[in-house]
Amino acid sequence: MQLKAILLDLDGTIYRGSEPIPGAKAFLRRLDQLALPYLILTNNSTRTPAQVSDHLQSMGIVCPPDRILTSSQAAAAFIGQGRVYCIGEDGLQQALQKQGIELAESEVSHVAVGMDRGITYAKIERAARLIRAGALFIGSNPDRCFPNEGGISPGNGAILAAIAATADQQPTIIGKPERAIVDIALARLGVSAHEAVLIGDNLETDIPAGVRAGVPTVFLLTGVSSRADLTSRAEQPTWIAENYAELNHLLDLWLAKESQSSPCRITMHALYSGSQGHGTPYPYALE
Ligand SMILES: [Mg+2]
Repeated sequence: MQLKAILLDLDGTIYRGSEPIPGAKAFLRRLDQLALPYLILTNNSTRTPAQVSDHLQSMGIVCPPDRILTSSQAAAAFIGQGRVYCIGEDGLQQALQKQGIELAESEVSHVAVGMDRGITYAKIERAARLIRAGALFIGSNPDRCFPNEGGISPGNGAILAAIAATADQQPTIIGKPERAIVDIALARLGVSAHEAVLIGDNLETDIPAGVRAGVPTVFLLTGVSSRADLTSRAEQPTWIAENYAELNHLLDLWLAKESQSSPCRITMHALYSGSQGHGTPYPYALE
């Protein structure tokens, strides 16, 4: 493997709640120092890259908007050109417009659906009718629900389900766990699948997205999924890292193997099967 780029998840990988995950900030800085390009992939379709960048900045993490790929941007790139009926917030609307796509309410080539807290019966009805008339049905991300103040709130998956039921058709999903967002990330970075590594905390989204796109994955145990969840998943990560100290150790190994120009898979599988590198002495300071 010649490592040319890193793909990272956002929530549960870079931060949790309003706190950065220990080591995340230093890891991004290390990637910059190594001149190793990275892209942060988020299924969140409501925020623009600039808004994500500002949010990271508020936690002391410097990450320019061009290092962020939202599921909305990926949906816009996937659609490419056309006339689109958009259900969604700023993140999706701006992404489509930046792509040069015309937003319209009739005679459209696509219906693009992202999370929309202003969703109405009329929007669902219009979307379904346009899809039944032949428009391609695109969903930015399939997340059904998310924890919110006071409990669980409906996510884009819930909106997609209502439209799918009415249109009698399932959407093409762009975000994780599907591969489109990863393919678009690789294209943006100009690298092929085996030249990248995808790092994420979620066994239901991040790891399958990487597996489906043919990108080696690291399951980082800093977020929603636990080691015990591995047994119930068909799509397994290439490596496991308990925290950023172990992730830095993996990066050392990839870079070392690269300089020896030998395949690193063997070493990594050994690590994976053991995968108990707790307390590995490591020279990079955690934050
Ligand atoms: Mg995550």
